[in-house]
Amino acid sequence: MRKVLVLEDEASIRSFVVINLRRAGYDVVEAETGEQALEKLAENPDVSVALLDVMLPDIDGFEVCRRIRANNLEIGIIMLTARSQEMDKVTGLMTGADDYVTKPFSPTELVARIDAICRRVGIDDAEPKSEIRSGPFVLNLDNRSLDKNDQRIRLTQVEFTIMKLFMENPDKALSREDILNNVWGRDYFGELKIVDVNIRRLRMKIEDDATNPQYITTVWGYGYKWGK
Ligand code: CA
Repeated sequence: MRKVLVLEDEASIRSFVVINLRRAGYDVVEAETGEQALEKLAENPDVSVALLDVMLPDIDGFEVCRRIRANNLEIGIIMLTARSQEMDKVTGLMTGADDYVTKPFSPTELVARIDAICRRVGIDDAEPKSEIRSGPFVLNLDNRSLDKNDQRIRLTQVEFTIMKLFMENPDKALSREDILNNVWGRDYFGELKIVDVNIRRLRMKIEDDATNPQYITTVWGYGYKWGK
């Protein structure tokens, strides 16, 4: 099912939009503030289209749009603007939105616009992502396996979870605490050293030369990163 993020601070408009999208067969994720929208998107990477209201209590819809676009070129973005905000349309399109809908709008119009964006971005029949690719690696999330150049690499569940964390966050420095919390859970009372031990073992399995790692690189005094 195609998933739409609806960012609108006014509860009555939001529920009106949500009800109509659900009726049209969309799965809906709701957000009331810009920050919340960004969090929800991070939690729901399978969102196809984001519907962003411009006037919000925290960061405005254009800024939300800019931040989404900074690392996501695939998602469709539609701005919701008030009739008086003619300039907003231009700004919205400049910041990377694909389309805008002027309030008040009919549910039919809104659904038609979302359908159109889905077709345009070529995600009409997209399957939810079940694998992550990076360089020679393919991480299959369904059977929890890792291939490098089509060769299966045998991983423990912990190693798999670490790989998933890295591959979902390419080029992002992850602190050892981040890795510990994500992989072992926040209630784990062991030592940070467990992270280093697992990374060392993982490097033996996935690097061409574990003494000169190219994929899992060290961020000195901090942690590790996927990529150079
Ligand atoms: Ca608003």
